[in-house]
Amino acid sequence: MNASTNTATDARATVVDLRSDTVTQPSAGMRAAMAAAPLGDDVFGDDPSVNALQAALAERLGFEAALFMPTGTQSNLCALMAHCQRGDEYIVGQFAHTYRWEGGGAAVLGSIQPQPLNHAPDGSLPLADIEANIKPDDAHFARTRLLALENTIGGKVLPMGYLADASELARRHGLARHLDGARLFNAAVAVAAAEGGDPYAAARRICGHFDSVSVCFSKGLGAPVGSVLCGSRELIQRAHRSRKMLGGGMRQAGVLAAAAHYALDHQVRRLAEDHALASRLAEGLRGLPGLTVEAPQTNIVFCDVDRDIAAKLVAHLKAQGVLATGLYKLRFVTHLDVDAAGVDHAIAAVRRFFNA
Ligand SMILES: *Cc1c(COP(=O)(O)O)cnc(C)c1O
Repeated sequence: MNASTNTATDARATVVDLRSDTVTQPSAGMRAAMAAAPLGDDVFGDDPSVNALQAALAERLGFEAALFMPTGTQSNLCALMAHCQRGDEYIVGQFAHTYRWEGGGAAVLGSIQPQPLNHAPDGSLPLADIEANIKPDDAHFARTRLLALENTIGGKVLPMGYLADASELARRHGLARHLDGARLFNAAVAVAAAEGGDPYAAARRICGHFDSVSVCFSKGLGAPVGSVLCGSRELIQRAHRSRKMLGGGMRQAGVLAAAAHYALDHQVRRLAEDHALASRLAEGLRGLPGLTVEAPQTNIVFCDVDRDIAAKLVAHLKAQGVLATGLYKLRFVTHLDVDAAGVDHAIAAVRRFFNA
């Protein structure tokens, strides 16, 4: 399709859905892997496909053990509950998923107090702020037990040097370190592109700075369901108890784990294509009056635009078969079910809105 010949009446067979990388359909190869998966009752630990996924991810990322979870929200919560007791505190970013987008679960269900900190422009939490917010051992204070980071955070890749420094700071103060790596492999693919080397090796390097890491398979990796928490054998044992309590014990879950395993083996390197399409989209949107485009580091493009313009623009795009979100900023996310023609269609639709 040649996007430049589109008119406002152009009818695309499919909607270009850029709301999130969660909207993907399982690929043919993934569906075949799901259909062929050997199954058992995972509450008894009997599902070979779940066990294989857990072993494979733990091995790849350099952890002793791993646990398959229905969602990233439950995976993060089980991790926080495994690290923290009732009345403990965790340090976290204002815009981190665990703090802002998970219904306050750590506080509600874990009795864990969050200490949110503002992010630096690169998404990191300034080391001095972390240090200043670690509470002294005194009955007035909650016990600061854990530092939780997120990578990628808002599509940004935390610098490797920062991860080392933050991890060292936490260790010096006796804090455990958790990574919400919902998009760990997007970060790893970006690191590998910048520094050379293999994305799986980059993922392992990132994980080396943490005691636990949660990875989502239902985002850019393209599986329909599932996250995996990695950590020490002891931590995973505690998380397993919480998972049961939270209702996450699943039976023939291997049909889902097989999809995640397929993604781990076949849909990691291709994340580079999503990153390239995000850059193409950002490039195409540059120079429009009233729209400030942030240069994407991975698969998420944020644009600053006036609040009331954002709502009108989202509605205009929807009428043209392009879906985006505009809650804080205008957001476009690329993924395996969008191609260059779709991105060009989206660019043309935005430009028409601005009469450009
Ligand atoms: C999506 C997401 C989660 C939660 O995953 P769900 O499977 O939707 O519960 C956690 N952290 C980050 C950064 C995410 O993007």
